Parts: sequence; C-alpha cells; structure tokens
Amino acid sequence: MYDIIVIGAGITGSFTARELAKLGYQVCTLDKHPSAGNKSSCTGIVSSECMELLPVDDSIIQQKAHSARIFSPAGNFIRIERDSTQAYILDRPKLDMWMAAQAQACGAEFRFNTFVESIDQSKEGVIVTCQHNRRHFDLEAGVAIIASGFSGRLTGKLGLGQISYYARGAQSEVTCLDIDETEVYCGNELAPGFFAWLVPTGGSRAKAGLLCRSNPHKYMASFLSRLVRLGKIFPAEFSISYGNIPLQPLSRTYGNRFVVIGDAAGQAKPTTGGGIYFGLLAAREAITVLDDAFKERDLTARYLSRYQKRWRQILGHELSIDYWAHRFYQSLDDRQISHIFDLIERHGIHESFLTSPDISFDWHSKIITEAIKHRSLQRALKEFHLKSPERLKHKT
Ligand SMILES: Cc1cc2nc3c(=O)[nH]c(=O)nc-3n(C[C@H](O)[C@H](O)[C@H](O)COP(=O)(O)OP(=O)(O)OC[C@H]3O[C@@H](n4cnc5c(N)ncnc54)[C@H](O)[C@@H]3O)c2cc1C
Repeated sequence: MYDIIVIGAGITGSFTARELAKLGYQVCTLDKHPSAGNKSSCTGIVSSECMELLPVDDSIIQQKAHSARIFSPAGNFIRIERDSTQAYILDRPKLDMWMAAQAQACGAEFRFNTFVESIDQSKEGVIVTCQHNRRHFDLEAGVAIIASGFSGRLTGKLGLGQISYYARGAQSEVTCLDIDETEVYCGNELAPGFFAWLVPTGGSRAKAGLLCRSNPHKYMASFLSRLVRLGKIFPAEFSISYGNIPLQPLSRTYGNRFVVIGDAAGQAKPTTGGGIYFGLLAAREAITVLDDAFKERDLTARYLSRYQKRWRQILGHELSIDYWAHRFYQSLDDRQISHIFDLIERHGIHESFLTSPDISFDWHSKIITEAIKHRSLQRALKEFHLKSPERLKHKT
C-alpha cells in the first residue's frame, strides 16, 4: 500500500510526486502513456515568476522573450517590450521528462502504460483500479491525487462533474523566416474568441498554434496557409498536435482521500490558456495540506477542503476576472477589436501599462481592471453597446 498515488505524470503530477517523495512519503505515479513528455500541443511559455518555482535545467529553455508583437484583425500591431526577460519558452516534452526523472530520483515510483479506470474508497484508503497491457488490477493508497489533465473521466466518476467550458488548441512545429520575436494574432477569422501565435524557439524553428472553441483542424489549416502565404514560414507537411484547455475550474476539487490539481481541476488562465504556473501553485497548496492531513491522520473531505480554500485564495479572484475578460473579448467582432487596438495605440495605453508595476505575465486582473477604467476604452464600450463588466460577470 502506497501513501499516495498520483494519477498523471504531466507537469503538476510529477512536481507533486517529487515534493511528496522528498517529504518521505511512499509515492506512486501512474500514467497511461509509455513515458512522460506527451504534451507536444503545449507551447511551454512561462513567466520568470514561474521559473522561480520551477528552476529548470538550461537544456529545457528554448528561448527567452522580452518582447512581442500583437496584431489586430486589420493587420496593425502593437509592440510590447521590456528590458528584462518576461517569458521563457520551454521544451514542454523535455520539461515533463525532466520533472518525472527528478521525482524518481527523490524516490517516487512511476508506472507507465498504466491507465487508471476508477478510484474507490476502501476502509483504510483508496483503491485505484488500473489497466496495463489489457490486465486489470488494483493498487491501494492512503490518498489519491488526480493530475490527469483536461479529461473529466475520473472527476466525473467521483461526482465532481466535468469541465464543460473549454478551449480547443492546436499547435505545430514550423520552420520560419526571420521571426525574432513572438507574434500574436487576434481576430475571429483566425481564432474566434481567442488568438493565434507564432513563437520562435531558436534557429529557424518556431511553434505556430491557436485556440478556438470548435473546429481547431479547420482554423489551424487556414492559419498555417496564411503564414506560408505571408512568407513567415516554409510550406511543409505539418504535424499538428491538439489539446483542450479548461476555462473554468471545477466547483469542488477534493473529497474523502483525494484532491484534484492542474488542468483536471480547471486551474488554467482563461485569458491565455496558460496552465503550468497556476497548476503548480495549486499543487503546492495540495502538498502542504496533504502533509498536514497525514500528520493529523485526517484524510477526510472535511480536512482536505482546506486545499480548495487555499488555492482559491491565491487564484480564485484572478480566474474569475480573467474569465470575465475572456468572455468580453469573445463578444467583440473584428471591427471592434481593431478599434480597441487603434485606441490603445493612439493613447499610448500599452506604453503606460508597460511602465506600470501592475503589469504581470501571470496576474492579469489588475491590468484588466485598470484598462476598463481608461476613459477612451469606456467610451468605446458604450459606443459598441457592450454589456457592462458587471452584467457579464453576473452572467458567469
Ligand atoms: C495548444 C496549447 C498550448 C498551451 N500553451 C501553454 C503555454 O504556453 N504555457 C502554459 O503555461 N500552458 C500552456 N498550455 C496549457 C498546459 O499545457 C496545461 O495547463 C498543463 O499541461 C496542465 O498540466 P497537468 O499536469 O495538469 O496536465 P497534463 O499535462 O495534461 O498531464 C496529464 C497527464 O495525465 C495522464 N492521464 C490522463 N488520464 C489518465 C488516466 N486515466 N490514467 C493514467 N494517466 C492519465 C496523461 O497521459 C498526462 O500525462 C497549453 C495547452 C494547449 C492545449
């Protein structure tokens, strides 16, 4: 019997396994894939703040970014630049493999090719029913940590429901021409309700991708053709990876002898879809609460509810403002988005924000709240007859 079974050897699962193994717990991590490092759809962009929590090996960093160009649907762009590194572009498959190896070095056991079918309560703990090479078997542990990514299969079975509001993502590695900074493209024709990106990773390589609500194949094919047409990337047989991103958290992320972390809990930013840092911050809270719970010999839902209280204190406000901002952006048509770009440029709003201490790669709520107070943007909202932030917030 293990102390802890972690389901999922993605970044949040392996990080949690590593930290709990360091604390001396008997940890077993299960993953359905043959090895760690399968999230090739992920761009791997994280902030310097995230890198403090996750000081990775240099070989995992593909690029450091301190500027970006954001294109309006009309083709104009706003350039944002700061002197210091704002973001790191990581090799995501390598990151997951590195973290799993670190967890193993700390004593955590990993079982790959092991699909978890269900989690049930027993008298002494949880029974995790698995399938490996068509063979079904049970493993037992004091507690289970569900870090199984977007799929709501396990959370649904445990009565926590599934995340119904999510984005669909697509990404491909491409060979590019003369792209030296990240480019972000807004517009409903390209990526309805979201955006598309071209992120250089060094040499002449880049990651091209987008988020949308449906039909990622269609939008991705048209985005790649457009980049080829614009002479930004070379034509090729593109190998596209797909993945979903939760845009709202589960309302309950704990139960008797289990907690849910990362994408499985819906701890990703609705503005950008970034989930690595927020997933790790929530994982850190889960580690603290579980360690206390083991010491107190109380792994009941009542005790583990502290995990949800703690992660919501850190991320709750941020996730709801970001969600509002996402829904607001989604309600704009291309003309309105381009108009907002013009206003930002004309009034130098982006420049004043760049010098503001409120601007942060991860924490968007302050800047969103400041932006909607700006007189010219307020006027535009009225002009567009858009729903007030309060009404939209109420709707969510
Ligand atoms: C197109 C795209 C681009 C993105 N870009 C970024 C970015 O630039 N920056 C950023 O911060 N985030 C980004 N994200 C989001 C980021 O990838 C996720 O937030 C992050 O991977 C969540 O980590 P996780 O450990 O919770 O889940 P995952 O990384 O999804 O790991 C879950 C693991 O659980 C395993 N698993 C699932 N079910 C079972 C089961 N039943 N039994 C056993 N194993 C199971 C899976 O095999 C997987 O290894 C992007 C996502 C997409 C789709």
